[in-house]
Amino acid sequence: MRPIIGITCKIEGEKDWLYLPQSYAKAIEAAGGMPLLLPYPEDADRISQLIQLVDGLLLSGGVDLDPSYFGEQPHPALGEISPQRDAVELALAREALQADLPVFAICRGVQLLNVAAGGTLVQDIPSQIAKAIKHSQKAPEWHPTHRVRLEKDSLLAKALGAEEVAVNSYHHQAVKSPAPGFRITAVAPDGVAEGLESGGHTFVLGVQWHPEGMWQKDSQSLKLFKSFVDACR
Ligand code: MN
Repeated sequence: MRPIIGITCKIEGEKDWLYLPQSYAKAIEAAGGMPLLLPYPEDADRISQLIQLVDGLLLSGGVDLDPSYFGEQPHPALGEISPQRDAVELALAREALQADLPVFAICRGVQLLNVAAGGTLVQDIPSQIAKAIKHSQKAPEWHPTHRVRLEKDSLLAKALGAEEVAVNSYHHQAVKSPAPGFRITAVAPDGVAEGLESGGHTFVLGVQWHPEGMWQKDSQSLKLFKSFVDACR
């Protein structure tokens, strides 16, 4: 039996459509897992039941997080936020951390994971980070546009078998202060945090880039999904 990987969705439009780029689900399948797209129940018991149902949690990308969750007022460059996603995904992440369920977090996901555990975010890289490089690339998502240095002895460095990788980049927010018990394990050339992991859990890892957009052309990206799915067995 393949481990069941619950994946959070995007919520958009007048009818609150739930949707997900298939690349996330296909990457989990290619890595040996069984993807399962998660709904957005408002009740805490149902959120808890979802966490019991899955063998791992994949927090997907999407819109900005409401900065009130880390004690800040909205910066003028804050983008769209989704109160429904924030509330349910923060609860899912906290339940998963409490249960030591493997978590893999991508883009918005790593920001959410950090805030769920008590960390803070940069609300807008171009206006808040001096000499920042371009993190909102205008290129196909399989094309890496900036480099990332990985911490030795990190889950990331082990999973990727490298100390430096080239990644795609579609974000204007990033982890600022890592949550207690977490450390930044990947950094862009301008110092922006690109990877985060917990020292107190079996496999809780997030990346700021989009490996689900790269794995079909870049075998190294698939290794990240394989490490995650293996941790879920
Ligand atoms: Mn980036």
